[in-house]
Amino acid sequence: MLSIYLDNNATTSIDAEVVQTMLPFLTTHYGNASSRHCFGDPAAKALRAARQNVQALIGAERETEIIFTSCGTEANATAILSAVKAFPNRREIITTTVEHAAVLSLCLDLEKDGYTVHQIGVDACGQVDMAAYIAALSPNVAVASIMWANNETGAIFPVVEMAAKAKSAGVLFHTDAVQAVGKLSIQVDETDIDMLSMSGHKLHAPKGIGALYLRKGTPYRPLLRGGHQERSRRAGTENIANCVAFGAAAKLAIQSLTDDARAMAGLRDCLQSQILAKASGVNVLAASVPRLSNTLAIVFSTINGEAMLAHLDRQGIAASGGSACNAGRIAPSHVALAMGLAPLEALGMVRFSLSRFTTQAEVTKAAEAVSVIARNLRNIST
Ligand code: PLP
Repeated sequence: MLSIYLDNNATTSIDAEVVQTMLPFLTTHYGNASSRHCFGDPAAKALRAARQNVQALIGAERETEIIFTSCGTEANATAILSAVKAFPNRREIITTTVEHAAVLSLCLDLEKDGYTVHQIGVDACGQVDMAAYIAALSPNVAVASIMWANNETGAIFPVVEMAAKAKSAGVLFHTDAVQAVGKLSIQVDETDIDMLSMSGHKLHAPKGIGALYLRKGTPYRPLLRGGHQERSRRAGTENIANCVAFGAAAKLAIQSLTDDARAMAGLRDCLQSQILAKASGVNVLAASVPRLSNTLAIVFSTINGEAMLAHLDRQGIAASGGSACNAGRIAPSHVALAMGLAPLEALGMVRFSLSRFTTQAEVTKAAEAVSVIARNLRNIST
């Protein structure tokens, strides 16, 4: 059976070099980075080197601007809750309708607590409504949290411009860059972004490690207290092996980012054109806006995306849909709905996401399988 992994926006494989780099910190170098003895020293040194690699990956000015967290979700929660605690009199938040649940559900919880949440919409192409965003900025806003790139469609938002607008309005700007880091060249220091979330497992590091970029001078309240780790900004003994892995993955990403992006865009475009050529009733989401080079979100008319995914899975091809299973019912992707698709139409969505390890042969086989399954599913339904 085939084994083709096209779900890299969900998680990536751990790079073999990353595994080798982290292994000694699971075996011989198990010391606590805070310990002042010969077991603690290697851990502290490795932690520092990892932090510097992550700093370099996003072009931060100082290594101390990087706070390691347990995941991207924690980085997002830390940023947003920090801003609302730092500005208790500001009772409004700006975000978008298409954020990852890590941001969206937190904002909706804050809404229940009395915050006004401005959910900025997107157009049919998946691009954010800049005019609505600018109109929502005011001195009442504690934070604007706008994702850099959408995990479902790959649409890239103009966060550099949006951060500049936030700065002019005196509003803190956070970006969930979990899908952007390692795929786009980022020089955060050249922007007005105050906080930026990252996640290791989206760039060939293990699950369970993330980081928050916190620009020097940004008002900050820790989410986890009770320890001096991370300069008292995130309590809890650091997961050294995972931090080292994230650092190693960051270093590899820096080395090959431009070449990887070009190669993935070529393969993604090939997958897209082969599917469009072989299958009818196919609509590519966010095709006309800047898009992550690895992402292809497709809506198959009159086909249920979950059925397509199940058939692909039986052939050893892994992709994913935007749909979520809520209380036993399949709910269409909130991103597709926000782009104006009707609920039934949105249920036809399938997302393919590539990595630097994806090959031309895999793309060709996947495109062939998709078109055959699409034909068969349509034959059954007619
Ligand atoms: N934000 C975005 C855009 C994501 O795609 C994801 C994961 O899919 C997250 C946040 C959550 O990251 P983590 O899995 O590290 O908590």
